[in-house]
Amino acid sequence: MPFPRTHLEPEHEMFRDQVRRYLKAHMQAKVPHWRTQGHVDREDFTAFGANGWLCLWAGEEYGGPAIRDIRYDQVLQEETIRWTDIGFFHNAHSMLVGPYLDRFATSEQKARFLPGAVSGETIMAIAMTEPDTGSDLAAIRTRAEDRGDHYLLNGSKTYISNGVIGDLFVVAARTGEKRGRIGLFVVMAGMEGFSLGRHLKKMGLPVQDTAEIRFDDVRVPKENLLGDPGMGFAYMAECLAVERTMSAISSLSHAQAAFDITLEFVKERRAFGKPVGAFQNTRFVMADLRARLDAAQAYLDQCVVLANDERLTPEDAAAAKLLCSEVQGDVVDAGLQLHGGAGYMDEYEISHMFRDARIARIYAGTSEIMKEIIGRGLGLGDRDLT
Ligand SMILES: Cc1cc2nc3c(=O)[nH]c(=O)nc-3n(C[C@H](O)[C@H](O)[C@H](O)COP(=O)(O)OP(=O)(O)OC[C@H]3O[C@@H](n4cnc5c(N)ncnc54)[C@H](O)[C@@H]3O)c2cc1C
Repeated sequence: MPFPRTHLEPEHEMFRDQVRRYLKAHMQAKVPHWRTQGHVDREDFTAFGANGWLCLWAGEEYGGPAIRDIRYDQVLQEETIRWTDIGFFHNAHSMLVGPYLDRFATSEQKARFLPGAVSGETIMAIAMTEPDTGSDLAAIRTRAEDRGDHYLLNGSKTYISNGVIGDLFVVAARTGEKRGRIGLFVVMAGMEGFSLGRHLKKMGLPVQDTAEIRFDDVRVPKENLLGDPGMGFAYMAECLAVERTMSAISSLSHAQAAFDITLEFVKERRAFGKPVGAFQNTRFVMADLRARLDAAQAYLDQCVVLANDERLTPEDAAAAKLLCSEVQGDVVDAGLQLHGGAGYMDEYEISHMFRDARIARIYAGTSEIMKEIIGRGLGLGDRDLT
Protein backbone atom coordinates (compact mmCIF):
# COMPACT_ATOMS: atom_id res chain seq x y z
CA MET A 1 0.00 0.00 0.00
CA PRO A 2 1.33 3.46 -0.84
CA PHE A 3 1.86 5.87 2.03
CA PRO A 4 -1.37 7.78 2.93
CA ARG A 5 -1.67 11.22 1.36
CA THR A 6 -3.02 13.36 4.14
CA HIS A 7 -3.09 16.64 2.22
CA LEU A 8 -6.07 15.53 0.08
CA GLU A 9 -9.67 15.99 1.30
CA PRO A 10 -12.67 13.85 0.33
CA GLU A 11 -13.69 16.45 -2.28
CA HIS A 12 -10.36 15.99 -4.08
CA GLU A 13 -10.95 12.24 -4.19
CA MET A 14 -14.47 12.81 -5.53
CA PHE A 15 -12.97 14.99 -8.24
CA ARG A 16 -10.45 12.23 -8.97
CA ASP A 17 -13.27 9.78 -9.41
CA GLN A 18 -15.11 12.03 -11.80
CA VAL A 19 -11.96 12.70 -13.88
CA ARG A 20 -11.01 9.02 -13.92
CA ARG A 21 -14.43 7.90 -15.13
CA TYR A 22 -14.39 10.46 -17.92
CA LEU A 23 -10.84 9.71 -19.07
CA LYS A 24 -11.40 5.96 -19.13
CA ALA A 25 -14.67 6.30 -21.03
CA HIS A 26 -13.73 9.03 -23.51
CA MET A 27 -9.99 9.52 -23.86
CA GLN A 28 -7.98 6.44 -23.02
CA ALA A 29 -8.75 4.80 -26.35
CA LYS A 30 -7.42 7.82 -28.24
CA VAL A 31 -3.83 7.42 -27.07
CA PRO A 32 -2.61 5.26 -30.01
CA HIS A 33 -4.12 7.80 -32.43
CA TRP A 34 -2.45 10.69 -30.58
CA ARG A 35 0.89 8.90 -30.68
CA THR A 36 0.69 8.28 -34.43
CA GLN A 37 -0.52 11.78 -35.21
CA GLY A 38 2.08 13.46 -32.97
CA HIS A 39 -0.38 15.61 -31.03
CA VAL A 40 -3.75 15.56 -29.32
CA ASP A 41 -6.79 16.89 -31.15
CA ARG A 42 -8.20 20.35 -30.60
CA GLU A 43 -11.43 18.67 -29.53
CA ASP A 44 -9.54 17.12 -26.60
CA PHE A 45 -8.84 20.59 -25.27
CA THR A 46 -12.44 21.72 -25.80
CA ALA A 47 -13.66 18.52 -24.11
CA PHE A 48 -11.52 19.38 -21.07
CA GLY A 49 -12.90 22.91 -21.29
CA ALA A 50 -16.49 21.65 -21.40
CA ASN A 51 -15.81 19.66 -18.23
CA GLY A 52 -14.50 22.82 -16.55
CA TRP A 53 -10.98 21.43 -16.26
CA LEU A 54 -8.90 24.10 -18.00
CA CYS A 55 -7.47 27.03 -16.03
CA LEU A 56 -9.26 25.95 -12.86
CA TRP A 57 -8.06 29.17 -11.22
CA ALA A 58 -9.87 31.42 -13.72
CA GLY A 59 -12.74 33.51 -12.34
CA GLU A 60 -16.39 32.98 -13.14
CA GLU A 61 -16.47 36.19 -15.19
CA TYR A 62 -14.19 34.36 -17.68
CA GLY A 63 -16.15 31.11 -17.56
CA GLY A 64 -13.82 29.43 -15.05
CA PRO A 65 -14.67 27.71 -11.76
CA ALA A 66 -12.32 29.99 -9.74
CA ILE A 67 -10.68 27.06 -7.93
CA ARG A 68 -7.37 28.27 -6.51
CA ASP A 69 -6.32 25.00 -5.00
CA ILE A 70 -3.41 23.28 -6.76
CA ARG A 71 -4.46 19.96 -5.22
CA TYR A 72 -7.16 19.80 -7.90
CA ASP A 73 -4.57 20.45 -10.63
CA GLN A 74 -2.44 17.75 -9.07
CA VAL A 75 -5.28 15.21 -9.11
CA LEU A 76 -6.18 16.14 -12.70
CA GLN A 77 -2.59 15.65 -13.80
CA GLU A 78 -2.21 12.36 -11.92
CA GLU A 79 -5.31 10.93 -13.55
CA THR A 80 -4.40 12.22 -17.02
CA ILE A 81 -1.03 10.50 -16.82
CA ARG A 82 -2.41 7.28 -15.42
CA TRP A 83 -5.26 6.84 -17.90
CA THR A 84 -4.09 8.64 -21.02
CA ASP A 85 -0.58 9.90 -21.80
CA ILE A 86 1.96 12.20 -20.18
CA GLY A 87 2.19 14.11 -23.49
CA PHE A 88 -1.33 15.59 -23.25
CA PHE A 89 -0.11 19.03 -22.21
CA HIS A 90 -3.37 20.59 -20.97
CA ASN A 91 -1.44 21.22 -17.80
CA ALA A 92 1.10 23.41 -19.63
CA HIS A 93 -1.82 25.39 -21.02
CA SER A 94 -3.52 25.85 -17.63
CA MET A 95 -0.65 25.93 -15.14
CA LEU A 96 2.48 26.92 -17.07
CA VAL A 97 1.14 29.57 -19.45
CA GLY A 98 -2.09 30.45 -17.64
CA PRO A 99 -0.38 31.90 -14.55
CA TYR A 100 1.28 34.61 -16.68
CA LEU A 101 -2.18 35.83 -17.67
CA ASP A 102 -3.52 35.37 -14.17
CA ARG A 103 -0.71 37.34 -12.54
CA PHE A 104 0.34 39.95 -15.07
CA ALA A 105 -2.54 40.58 -17.49
CA THR A 106 -4.81 43.60 -17.08
CA SER A 107 -8.54 43.01 -16.73
CA GLU A 108 -8.96 44.10 -20.36
CA GLN A 109 -6.39 41.47 -21.43
CA LYS A 110 -8.01 38.82 -19.25
CA ALA A 111 -11.38 39.57 -20.81
CA ARG A 112 -9.82 39.09 -24.26
CA PHE A 113 -7.76 35.97 -23.63
CA LEU A 114 -9.23 33.97 -20.76
CA PRO A 115 -12.65 32.89 -22.09
CA GLY A 116 -10.96 31.03 -25.00
CA ALA A 117 -8.34 29.57 -22.67
CA VAL A 118 -11.03 28.29 -20.31
CA SER A 119 -13.16 26.78 -23.08
CA GLY A 120 -10.14 25.23 -24.80
CA GLU A 121 -10.77 27.05 -28.07
CA THR A 122 -7.54 28.99 -27.56
CA ILE A 123 -4.65 26.59 -26.90
CA MET A 124 -1.75 28.23 -25.12
CA ALA A 125 2.04 27.82 -25.19
CA ILE A 126 5.06 29.55 -23.71
CA ALA A 127 8.05 30.54 -25.84
CA MET A 128 11.23 31.23 -23.91
CA THR A 129 13.88 28.88 -25.32
CA GLU A 130 15.84 29.81 -28.46
CA PRO A 131 18.20 27.89 -30.72
CA ASP A 132 21.18 29.52 -28.99
CA THR A 133 19.99 29.62 -25.42
CA GLY A 134 17.81 27.69 -22.99
CA SER A 135 19.18 27.55 -19.45
CA ASP A 136 20.61 31.06 -19.75
CA LEU A 137 17.32 32.85 -20.31
CA ALA A 138 18.81 36.30 -19.74
CA ALA A 139 20.76 35.78 -22.98
CA ILE A 140 17.77 35.45 -25.34
CA ARG A 141 18.08 37.30 -28.64
CA THR A 142 14.48 37.65 -29.80
CA ARG A 143 13.90 41.37 -29.77
CA ALA A 144 10.82 43.53 -29.30
CA GLU A 145 11.40 47.11 -30.45
CA ASP A 146 9.12 49.83 -29.15
CA ARG A 147 7.52 51.50 -32.20
CA GLY A 148 5.01 53.76 -30.51
CA ASP A 149 1.68 51.98 -30.67
CA HIS A 150 3.18 48.52 -31.17
CA TYR A 151 6.29 46.41 -30.63
CA LEU A 152 8.14 45.01 -33.63
CA LEU A 153 9.07 41.42 -32.83
CA ASN A 154 11.92 39.55 -34.53
CA GLY A 155 13.62 36.28 -33.66
CA SER A 156 13.02 32.59 -33.29
CA LYS A 157 12.13 30.09 -30.59
CA THR A 158 12.54 26.35 -30.40
CA TYR A 159 11.29 23.29 -28.49
CA ILE A 160 7.94 24.94 -27.89
CA SER A 161 5.37 22.58 -26.34
CA ASN A 162 1.87 22.84 -27.83
CA GLY A 163 3.72 24.65 -30.61
CA VAL A 164 1.91 23.02 -33.53
CA ILE A 165 -1.63 23.20 -32.17
CA GLY A 166 -1.08 26.41 -30.18
CA ASP A 167 -3.02 29.62 -30.83
CA LEU A 168 -1.69 31.94 -28.13
CA PHE A 169 2.00 32.21 -27.30
CA VAL A 170 3.44 34.06 -24.34
CA VAL A 171 6.76 35.13 -25.84
CA ALA A 172 9.85 36.34 -23.97
CA ALA A 173 11.78 38.99 -25.90
CA ARG A 174 14.50 41.53 -25.19
CA THR A 175 13.25 45.07 -24.83
CA GLY A 176 16.61 46.75 -24.31
CA GLU A 177 20.37 46.30 -24.50
CA LYS A 178 20.94 45.44 -20.85
CA ARG A 179 21.31 41.73 -20.18
CA GLY A 180 18.09 40.33 -18.77
CA ARG A 181 15.90 43.26 -19.86
CA ILE A 182 13.04 41.17 -21.11
CA GLY A 183 9.34 41.73 -21.77
CA LEU A 184 6.55 39.18 -22.14
CA PHE A 185 4.17 39.50 -25.07
CA VAL A 186 1.00 37.71 -26.09
CA VAL A 187 1.45 36.68 -29.73
CA MET A 188 -1.35 35.01 -31.65
CA ALA A 189 -0.50 32.35 -34.23
CA GLY A 190 -2.48 34.23 -36.89
CA MET A 191 -0.46 37.46 -36.65
CA GLU A 192 1.34 38.56 -39.80
CA GLY A 193 5.02 37.57 -39.64
CA PHE A 194 4.40 34.68 -37.22
CA SER A 195 5.42 31.35 -38.71
CA LEU A 196 5.54 27.82 -37.51
CA GLY A 197 8.80 25.97 -38.23
CA ARG A 198 9.40 22.24 -37.96
CA HIS A 199 7.24 19.93 -35.91
CA LEU A 200 10.26 18.42 -34.14
CA LYS A 201 10.77 14.67 -34.01
CA LYS A 202 11.78 13.45 -30.55
CA MET A 203 13.06 10.28 -28.88
CA GLY A 204 9.91 10.18 -26.71
CA LEU A 205 6.82 12.11 -25.77
CA PRO A 206 5.21 11.63 -29.20
CA VAL A 207 1.83 12.94 -28.04
CA GLN A 208 3.25 16.34 -27.14
CA ASP A 209 3.84 18.52 -30.19
CA THR A 210 7.13 20.38 -29.95
CA ALA A 211 7.86 23.03 -32.55
CA GLU A 212 10.02 25.86 -33.78
CA ILE A 213 8.45 29.26 -34.29
CA ARG A 214 9.68 32.42 -35.99
CA PHE A 215 8.80 36.09 -35.81
CA ASP A 216 9.57 38.28 -38.81
CA ASP A 217 8.54 41.88 -38.16
CA VAL A 218 5.49 40.83 -36.18
CA ARG A 219 3.58 43.97 -35.13
CA VAL A 220 2.49 43.16 -31.61
CA PRO A 221 0.02 45.76 -30.34
CA LYS A 222 1.03 47.49 -27.11
CA GLU A 223 -2.16 46.05 -25.58
CA ASN A 224 -0.53 42.61 -25.79
CA LEU A 225 2.39 43.44 -23.49
CA LEU A 226 2.07 41.67 -20.13
CA GLY A 227 2.95 43.94 -17.22
CA ASP A 228 6.15 45.97 -17.33
CA PRO A 229 8.36 45.71 -20.47
CA GLY A 230 11.51 45.31 -18.35
CA MET A 231 10.22 42.84 -15.77
CA GLY A 232 9.81 39.68 -17.85
CA PHE A 233 12.83 37.98 -16.29
CA ALA A 234 11.46 38.49 -12.77
CA TYR A 235 8.00 37.36 -13.94
CA MET A 236 9.47 34.15 -15.36
CA ALA A 237 11.40 33.49 -12.15
CA GLU A 238 8.15 33.96 -10.23
CA CYS A 239 6.09 31.63 -12.43
CA LEU A 240 8.77 28.97 -12.80
CA ALA A 241 8.30 27.87 -9.17
CA VAL A 242 4.75 26.72 -9.92
CA GLU A 243 5.84 25.35 -13.32
CA ARG A 244 8.47 23.23 -11.58
CA THR A 245 5.99 21.99 -9.00
CA MET A 246 3.69 20.93 -11.83
CA SER A 247 6.59 19.28 -13.61
CA ALA A 248 7.42 17.38 -10.40
CA ILE A 249 3.77 16.30 -10.15
CA SER A 250 3.93 14.93 -13.71
CA SER A 251 7.18 13.12 -13.00
CA LEU A 252 5.96 11.47 -9.85
CA SER A 253 2.56 10.51 -11.29
CA HIS A 254 4.38 8.91 -14.19
CA ALA A 255 6.76 7.13 -11.83
CA GLN A 256 3.89 5.83 -9.68
CA ALA A 257 2.16 4.48 -12.79
CA ALA A 258 5.39 2.84 -14.00
CA PHE A 259 5.86 1.27 -10.59
CA ASP A 260 2.33 -0.21 -10.58
CA ILE A 261 2.69 -1.60 -14.11
CA THR A 262 5.98 -3.20 -13.12
CA LEU A 263 4.60 -4.67 -9.91
CA GLU A 264 1.79 -6.33 -11.83
CA PHE A 265 4.26 -7.66 -14.40
CA VAL A 266 6.70 -9.20 -11.90
CA LYS A 267 3.85 -10.99 -10.15
CA GLU A 268 2.75 -12.61 -13.44
CA ARG A 269 5.99 -13.29 -15.27
CA ARG A 270 7.67 -16.55 -14.30
CA ALA A 271 11.31 -17.67 -14.52
CA PHE A 272 13.02 -20.69 -12.97
CA GLY A 273 9.63 -22.01 -11.89
CA LYS A 274 8.53 -18.97 -9.88
CA PRO A 275 7.29 -15.42 -10.40
CA VAL A 276 10.06 -12.92 -11.20
CA GLY A 277 8.78 -10.98 -8.18
CA ALA A 278 9.82 -13.84 -5.88
CA PHE A 279 13.53 -13.24 -6.50
CA GLN A 280 15.23 -11.32 -3.76
CA ASN A 281 16.69 -8.88 -6.27
CA THR A 282 13.22 -7.97 -7.54
CA ARG A 283 11.90 -7.53 -4.02
CA PHE A 284 14.82 -5.31 -3.08
CA VAL A 285 14.56 -3.17 -6.20
CA MET A 286 10.80 -2.74 -5.78
CA ALA A 287 11.08 -2.09 -2.05
CA ASP A 288 13.73 0.56 -2.63
CA LEU A 289 11.59 2.26 -5.28
CA ARG A 290 8.48 2.10 -3.08
CA ALA A 291 10.32 3.79 -0.21
CA ARG A 292 11.73 6.51 -2.49
CA LEU A 293 8.40 7.11 -4.22
CA ASP A 294 6.62 7.52 -0.90
CA ALA A 295 9.27 9.89 0.45
CA ALA A 296 9.21 11.98 -2.73
CA GLN A 297 5.40 12.02 -2.74
CA ALA A 298 5.26 13.24 0.87
CA TYR A 299 7.72 16.05 0.06
CA LEU A 300 5.91 17.00 -3.14
CA ASP A 301 2.49 17.03 -1.47
CA GLN A 302 3.88 19.39 1.14
CA CYS A 303 5.24 21.63 -1.67
CA VAL A 304 1.74 21.68 -3.16
CA VAL A 305 0.31 22.82 0.18
CA LEU A 306 2.98 25.55 0.38
CA ALA A 307 2.34 26.61 -3.23
CA ASN A 308 -1.36 26.95 -2.40
CA ASP A 309 -0.41 29.42 0.31
CA GLU A 310 2.09 31.21 -1.98
CA ARG A 311 4.82 30.13 0.45
CA LEU A 312 6.76 27.80 -1.85
CA THR A 313 10.27 29.13 -2.45
CA PRO A 314 12.04 28.76 -5.83
CA GLU A 315 14.61 26.60 -4.01
CA ASP A 316 12.00 24.17 -2.71
CA ALA A 317 10.27 24.02 -6.11
CA ALA A 318 13.67 23.30 -7.69
CA ALA A 319 14.30 20.55 -5.11
CA ALA A 320 10.90 18.97 -5.85
CA LYS A 321 11.56 19.03 -9.58
CA LEU A 322 15.07 17.65 -9.17
CA LEU A 323 14.02 14.89 -6.79
CA CYS A 324 10.86 13.77 -8.61
CA SER A 325 12.40 13.75 -12.08
CA GLU A 326 15.40 11.74 -10.82
CA VAL A 327 13.09 9.25 -9.06
CA GLN A 328 11.04 9.01 -12.25
CA GLY A 329 14.17 8.20 -14.27
CA ASP A 330 15.17 5.50 -11.80
CA VAL A 331 11.70 3.92 -11.66
CA VAL A 332 11.22 3.67 -15.43
CA ASP A 333 14.75 2.31 -15.85
CA ALA A 334 14.37 -0.35 -13.15
CA GLY A 335 10.83 -1.09 -14.33
CA LEU A 336 12.04 -1.69 -17.86
CA GLN A 337 14.84 -3.94 -16.62
CA LEU A 338 12.39 -6.04 -14.60
CA HIS A 339 10.26 -6.50 -17.73
CA GLY A 340 13.22 -8.18 -19.46
CA GLY A 341 12.98 -8.19 -23.28
CA ALA A 342 9.30 -7.26 -23.11
CA GLY A 343 10.36 -3.93 -21.65
CA TYR A 344 12.09 -3.07 -24.91
CA MET A 345 8.97 -3.78 -26.98
CA ASP A 346 6.64 -1.04 -28.17
CA GLU A 347 3.61 -3.05 -27.15
CA TYR A 348 4.59 -2.78 -23.48
CA GLU A 349 3.75 0.54 -21.91
CA ILE A 350 6.95 0.62 -19.86
CA SER A 351 8.97 1.10 -23.07
CA HIS A 352 7.00 4.29 -23.84
CA MET A 353 7.37 5.44 -20.28
CA PHE A 354 11.13 4.94 -20.38
CA ARG A 355 11.44 7.16 -23.45
CA ASP A 356 8.91 9.73 -22.28
CA ALA A 357 10.57 10.16 -18.90
CA ARG A 358 14.01 11.22 -20.11
CA ILE A 359 13.04 14.79 -20.88
CA ALA A 360 11.88 15.48 -17.32
CA ARG A 361 15.46 16.03 -16.18
CA ILE A 362 15.92 18.61 -18.92
CA TYR A 363 12.84 20.73 -19.55
CA ALA A 364 11.47 23.36 -17.18
CA GLY A 365 15.11 23.73 -16.13
CA THR A 366 17.73 20.98 -16.17
CA SER A 367 18.74 19.03 -13.06
CA GLU A 368 22.00 20.97 -13.08
CA ILE A 369 20.15 24.29 -13.03
CA MET A 370 17.91 22.98 -10.23
CA LYS A 371 21.07 22.24 -8.23
CA GLU A 372 22.42 25.72 -8.97
CA ILE A 373 19.17 27.24 -7.65
CA ILE A 374 19.25 25.10 -4.51
CA GLY A 375 22.95 25.96 -4.10
CA ARG A 376 22.19 29.66 -4.47
CA GLY A 377 19.75 29.28 -1.55
CA LEU A 378 22.63 27.89 0.50
CA GLY A 379 24.64 31.02 -0.20
CA LEU A 380 26.83 29.18 -2.68
CA GLY A 381 26.51 31.29 -5.81
CA ASP A 382 24.67 34.28 -7.19
CA ARG A 383 23.99 33.42 -10.81
CA ASP A 384 21.16 35.14 -12.62
CA LEU A 385 19.10 32.01 -12.95
CA THR A 386 15.37 31.57 -13.39
C1 LIG B 1 10.31 18.26 -25.31
C2 LIG B 1 10.70 19.63 -24.89
C3 LIG B 1 9.71 20.56 -24.58
C4 LIG B 1 10.07 21.86 -24.21
N1 LIG B 1 9.08 22.81 -24.03
C5 LIG B 1 9.43 24.12 -23.91
C6 LIG B 1 8.44 25.15 -23.95
O1 LIG B 1 7.24 24.89 -24.04
N2 LIG B 1 8.84 26.44 -23.89
C7 LIG B 1 10.15 26.77 -23.79
O2 LIG B 1 10.45 27.97 -23.76
N3 LIG B 1 11.14 25.83 -23.75
C8 LIG B 1 10.79 24.51 -23.81
N4 LIG B 1 11.76 23.55 -23.80
C9 LIG B 1 13.16 23.93 -23.64
C10 LIG B 1 13.79 23.46 -22.34
O3 LIG B 1 13.26 24.16 -21.25
C11 LIG B 1 15.31 23.63 -22.50
O4 LIG B 1 15.74 22.64 -23.42
C12 LIG B 1 16.06 23.49 -21.19
O5 LIG B 1 15.77 24.57 -20.33
C13 LIG B 1 17.57 23.39 -21.39
O6 LIG B 1 18.03 24.40 -22.24
P1 LIG B 1 18.98 24.02 -23.49
O7 LIG B 1 18.31 22.94 -24.26
O8 LIG B 1 19.29 25.27 -24.22
O9 LIG B 1 20.26 23.43 -22.84
P2 LIG B 1 21.59 24.25 -22.46
O10 LIG B 1 21.22 25.42 -21.64
O11 LIG B 1 22.38 24.47 -23.69
O12 LIG B 1 22.34 23.19 -21.54
C14 LIG B 1 23.20 22.16 -22.03
C15 LIG B 1 23.82 21.44 -20.83
O13 LIG B 1 24.59 22.39 -20.06
C16 LIG B 1 24.16 22.38 -18.73
N5 LIG B 1 24.27 23.73 -18.16
C17 LIG B 1 23.84 24.91 -18.70
N6 LIG B 1 24.07 25.93 -17.87
C18 LIG B 1 24.66 25.39 -16.76
C19 LIG B 1 25.15 25.92 -15.52
N7 LIG B 1 25.04 27.23 -15.23
N8 LIG B 1 25.71 25.07 -14.63
C20 LIG B 1 25.79 23.74 -14.88
N9 LIG B 1 25.36 23.19 -16.04
C21 LIG B 1 24.79 23.99 -16.95
C22 LIG B 1 22.70 21.94 -18.77
O14 LIG B 1 22.27 21.45 -17.52
C23 LIG B 1 22.77 20.88 -19.85
O15 LIG B 1 23.20 19.68 -19.30
C24 LIG B 1 11.42 22.22 -24.11
C25 LIG B 1 12.42 21.27 -24.39
C26 LIG B 1 12.08 20.01 -24.80
C27 LIG B 1 13.17 19.06 -25.18
